[in-house]
Amino acid sequence: RIVSAGARSPNEEALERALRPKRLDEYIGQTKAREQLDIFVGAARKRQEALDHVLLFGPPGLGKTTLSHIIAAELGVRLHQTSGPVLEKPRDLAAILTSLERNDVLFIDEIHRLSPVVEEILYPALEDFQIDIMIGEGPAARSIKLDLQPFTLVGATTRAGMLTNPLRDRFGITTRLEFYTPEELQRIVTRSAGLLNAPIDETGALEIARRSRGTPRIANRLLRRVRDWADVKGDGRISQPTAEAALQMLDVDRAGFDLMDRKLLDALIQRFDGGPVGLDNLAAAIGEASDTIEDVIEPYLIQQGYLHRTPRGRMATLMAYRHLGLAPPSREGELF
Ligand code: ADP
Repeated sequence: RIVSAGARSPNEEALERALRPKRLDEYIGQTKAREQLDIFVGAARKRQEALDHVLLFGPPGLGKTTLSHIIAAELGVRLHQTSGPVLEKPRDLAAILTSLERNDVLFIDEIHRLSPVVEEILYPALEDFQIDIMIGEGPAARSIKLDLQPFTLVGATTRAGMLTNPLRDRFGITTRLEFYTPEELQRIVTRSAGLLNAPIDETGALEIARRSRGTPRIANRLLRRVRDWADVKGDGRISQPTAEAALQMLDVDRAGFDLMDRKLLDALIQRFDGGPVGLDNLAAAIGEASDTIEDVIEPYLIQQGYLHRTPRGRMATLMAYRHLGLAPPSREGELF
């Protein structure tokens, strides 16, 4: 999926690293998060203390990893990066924790996917900078306490609701990342185009921005595809008509929706009469995992007002009917 902010190739990851802003003042948008972090990071640096643990949540591609790197850079400390699914055993996490230096940042991506036994050793580490590890086996096994250097955990997750309560309670700073406005994304596209030496004008950048589902990762990806198109079909310059033609070829429509978004809305309307329909039924109908729908596809559709989440399931809104060129139901609906 071209507009999916989730999966990405090693090649794309390398490019992302190159496009990543390095300092807080290069980080575009997310004004609230930036202001808060600026103050908390400044205070920690001044007192030469570890920053409180930070939980970042929001859909994929909005800049959680980027922000964790920036926090470490602004604190002037090292960043250690890992992820929930990678930490299989308590000792995997213990090895990392004991290697941390004073006030370092540990970034755990997909922190909601930590296994319970690994999460268990994280609690005392976060609270008292101590871990309990088991030495030996069987009747001779005993637990010893190890002191750790003070550190900051930055955890990232797509949905804060997926964290266990004891884990969530241990974060002093919780920051929700929001979808970006077209104007913010236009600045991001312009900045990235500069780094990629791609000639672009304001209208071209805005066209890409509008179709990027509020997400910097998608904006950067579309920029690269549009640049390819401009190099082969045009004179290399990216303006509004070039961007529009290229994005049309990629099946990214005016709202920034791709085939999967349209398939979801279409199934919701044509097969389930606009809903309400349960997530699992909807997932089965379009052949997509429920998690992908919940984490990647629907947050933007909901934020833009095409989809409603109700206790009885998902419902299509009038905007969804209009977008697909379908007649809305004539029944007396509470929704409309
Ligand atoms: P996440 O960890 O939330 O999935 P990333 O931090 O990997 O997202 O961000 C994806 C890409 O989007 C990064 O490579 C970066 O280039 C770009 N990006 C994210 N946030 C911003 C921002 N605020 N300003 C500029 N570029 C950004």
